Amino acid sequence: MENIPVAGPWITEKEIAYVTDAVTNAWYSNANMYHQRFEKAFAEYIGVQYAMALPSCTSAIHLSLLALGIGPGDEVIVPDCTWIASAAPISYVNATPVFADIDPKSWCISAKSFEECITPRTKAVIPVDLYGNMPDMDALREIAAKHNIAIIEDAAEAIGSTYKGKKAGSFGVTGVYSFHGSKTLTTGEGGILLTDRKDLYDRISFLRDHGRAPGNATLFYNSEVAYKYKMSSMQAALGLAQLERIDELIAKKRETFKWYYERLGNIDGITMNSEASDVFNSYWMVTIILDPKFGIKKEALQEKLGLQNIATRPFFHPLSSLPAYQNLPQAGHAHERNEVSYALSPYGVNLPSALNLTESQVDFVCQSVKQIIQG
Ligand SMILES: *Cc1c(COP(=O)(O)O)cnc(C)c1O
Repeated sequence: MENIPVAGPWITEKEIAYVTDAVTNAWYSNANMYHQRFEKAFAEYIGVQYAMALPSCTSAIHLSLLALGIGPGDEVIVPDCTWIASAAPISYVNATPVFADIDPKSWCISAKSFEECITPRTKAVIPVDLYGNMPDMDALREIAAKHNIAIIEDAAEAIGSTYKGKKAGSFGVTGVYSFHGSKTLTTGEGGILLTDRKDLYDRISFLRDHGRAPGNATLFYNSEVAYKYKMSSMQAALGLAQLERIDELIAKKRETFKWYYERLGNIDGITMNSEASDVFNSYWMVTIILDPKFGIKKEALQEKLGLQNIATRPFFHPLSSLPAYQNLPQAGHAHERNEVSYALSPYGVNLPSALNLTESQVDFVCQSVKQIIQG
């Protein structure tokens, strides 16, 4: 039986040509040529002033928190259901993560829960554009502005998504993307940080290069102990080639969702990714949530699909439920507070959404899902 992967990229001759050119020519005085092209093109695509290519999205969140001066005693609100990379950097700076509930439709942070989590210590919120969907950005921005809270938008999963016509990654003081191999646009490993604020961009340029100002990089004169967070030119070349094909990549994601929706969208008891009227969802991961009436939890569904060589992922476990966060004072309380996270997560599974998926593979996956839920 063939293996059906859950995620993976779409690489063409263009990517191979760009990476080959980078490894051949991006040295000496041309060492940064692909970074410059990639960062400029990415900033233009999203519609922001500044973009900085980085080794990961995790490092982009870390730098965002550092540049905002967030540290011990501060609280940062993050949705309970997301990849741990959204939250881990809060601990890197010795601040405290506070887990807010998700919205039952968009599966992104609930504006109401965000507001309820605010305390005098809250310095930032990290909304996540989960699986390509968008949270209620107008409500989040209004609440954040009222309480003077910085927004760091984690758009890692949402390249191409829009909210009221504005691109994911452009809603915060910083926006961050991941180019991990599972993401829609990949550089193997990698990420990017976006901002319109020159002061933050300058501070981040300094922090990511061992505390050297860009102008004095040749002086080896470090004024603070900082970090080394850089992308290689081969990765930047790969990212540029992928970005030049971005419409094609997003169209494939949308088509994949449509194939699934045609087969599973009308089945009673299956909920799929939503798309509100003011949102364009780039559907990074096609996801189903089963009604508890079937009595099938995500692990059981994953195991049964696995027997057919169908790879899946669990809907993110609430972070507040993970061993990693059991020593946080409020982790225990999040269970009662975050009803939606705890109700949906046990029954959610990401179905194969790799960019090389065929319609007949989707057909096979959907037939398998239907057989499993019909017992
Ligand atoms: C993939 C992902 C990240 C982390 O990206 P890295 O590049 O692996 O650091 C962060 N947040 C979300 C929501 C992600 O899906």
